[in-house]
Amino acid sequence: MDWNREQGWQQARICSYQPFEMDPAATVLHYGQAIFEGLKAYRGDNGQIYLFRPLDNLERMNRGAVRMSMPRFPVDLILQGLKALVYLDRDWIPEANGASLYLRPTMIGVDPFLGLKPADNYIFYLIMSPVGSYYAGGFSPTKIFVCRDYVRAVKGGVGEVKTAGNYAASLLAYEMANKAGYTQVLWLDACERRYVEEVGTSNIFFMLDDTLVTPPLGGSILGGITRDSVIKLARSWDIKVEERPVTIDEVLAASQDGTLKESFATGTAAVISPVGELFCDDTGYPINRGEAGPLAERLFEELQAIQYGRSEDPFKWTMRVG
Ligand code: PMP
Repeated sequence: MDWNREQGWQQARICSYQPFEMDPAATVLHYGQAIFEGLKAYRGDNGQIYLFRPLDNLERMNRGAVRMSMPRFPVDLILQGLKALVYLDRDWIPEANGASLYLRPTMIGVDPFLGLKPADNYIFYLIMSPVGSYYAGGFSPTKIFVCRDYVRAVKGGVGEVKTAGNYAASLLAYEMANKAGYTQVLWLDACERRYVEEVGTSNIFFMLDDTLVTPPLGGSILGGITRDSVIKLARSWDIKVEERPVTIDEVLAASQDGTLKESFATGTAAVISPVGELFCDDTGYPINRGEAGPLAERLFEELQAIQYGRSEDPFKWTMRVG
C-alpha cells in the first residue's frame, strides 16, 4: 500500500514476495524513517488459525508513526489485509507446537530527496515467514551480558518506537556479548547507567521475594505486548506485580543474597525466556542455580495455550482468522 501527501493511502495490493526498486536517495536509507512490527499467527490443534493481539501491534506501530513524522494508517484496513494474507497463506503455518507464522508489517519513507525533512511518499508492506519452535531443544535459560559501555535509547528519543535505528545502535554490543559467550544484552539507562531497561528484543522481569518486578515504561523502553500480557496474567493469579525503577545493583545483590528467585525476558519471538545468569563487570551472577524458574514455565505454558486456542482466553487476546 502506498501513501503520498496529496492522495493519502492508496493502492492496497497483494503480490508475491519479490525485491522492489527504491531510489538510492530514499529517505529511509539516509534518515531512518522505518517502523515495523512483529507478531505471530498460530495454528491451533483444531486447525483454526489465531492471531495474538494484532490490534495492539498495529496501534503501537501507529503511535510510532506519529513519533517518526510518518503518516498514521487505517488500523481496520491493515488488519483486514493482514487477516486476508494469513488466510491465503494458511498452508504455510506449521502445525508443530511452538511453531508459527511470523508477520512483519513495515512502513518506510521512500522520497528521492536528500534534504532533511519527513518524506512525502511512504510504502507499507507485510513480510510473512514460517518460524519453528524457539525451544526445539527444551525450555532453556539464557545468559545475559549487562552492557555498561553503550546505551540503546535515551528518554525523549525513540526507544519506545519499534524503529530500525534502535536495532542498529545495539548491534555492536550484541557482537561483543556474543563473542564473550552471552546470547543477549541487558541495557541500562542512558543517564546514570544504573537502572535496568530491557533486554535485546525483550522486556525483563525479576521475581524479588514474592513480588514480580519490571521496569516502568518511561519513554526509552519498548512497551512489549508480551510484557503487558504477563503483567495481566500474573495479577489474575494473585501474584503481586510492580512496575518500578530497579537498579542493576539491587538485582545483583538480590542474586547473591537469594531474594532474586528467578528472572525472565518476554517478547513475541520466545514468548518467555528464562534468565540463568547475568554477567556484569567481569563477574557472573547465577539466577535460580542457572535453571528456568517455576513462574517462567507457568507463564510460558499458559500463554502458549492461549495462543494456540487450547486454553480459555479470558482477556480476549486471540483473534480468529477465517
Ligand atoms: N523490546 C524490544 C526492543 C523489542 O524489539 C521487542 C520485540 N518486539 C520487545 C521489547 C518485546 O515486545 P513484544 O512483547 O511486543 O514482542
